[in-house]
Amino acid sequence: MNNLSEAGPRAGRLIVLTGPAGVGKGTVEAKLRADHPEIWLSVSATTRAPRPGEVDGVNYHFVSEGEFLAEERAGRFLETAVVHGMAHYGTPLQPVLDHLAANVPTILEIDLQGARRVKERAAELGMEVVTVFLAPPSFDELVRRLIGRGTETEEQRNRRLETARVELAAESEFDVVIVNDDVDRAAGELWSVIAREYGLD
Ligand code: 5GP
Repeated sequence: MNNLSEAGPRAGRLIVLTGPAGVGKGTVEAKLRADHPEIWLSVSATTRAPRPGEVDGVNYHFVSEGEFLAEERAGRFLETAVVHGMAHYGTPLQPVLDHLAANVPTILEIDLQGARRVKERAAELGMEVVTVFLAPPSFDELVRRLIGRGTETEEQRNRRLETARVELAAESEFDVVIVNDDVDRAAGELWSVIAREYGLD
């Protein structure tokens, strides 16, 4: 099956969590899944190196550039992006279709280019999509969080800051905006969106 309309009316809506790098998408998503383990989060493929503590197949599928490009050519990604001009990222398509067809609450955590691309492809794949933009309380706070992470070189950090400036302006393109001023509150708000879309309490 590669068009969800064949799955019939039970197919769930895809929740796409997006926002500027460093806004805390991963932290909010981790809190959400700790509270609601029935949620399925898509595991992306990436060509970037694992950070300390990251596990292959859990945080990402860490692949070589050759493997990534072969999968891309074979049409196995829902969307792909080159993030910060350095690494490839992509969402494997089939697991997303399978979980939606089974009406399992399904989330992608991806950058803005990816979120836009998923919206574009939704009709072709018979998917309904709800895009959620996670916003920082302010630009200054975002800068503090980016610098606080401390895992990048200065050049990488400067690139991220420039990207963040552009990305913050994109908020109005998305269906729902959640301000990440408090992780528990933001995760609760995201759960309300999912519960509404999947008819859960
Ligand atoms: P990081 O390298 O810090 O884990 O992620 C960098 C950025 O890539 C984040 O904004 C993250 O949301 C985004 N990202 C992760 N996986 C994917 C993906 O499959 N597709 C797209 N378009 N972006 C992704």
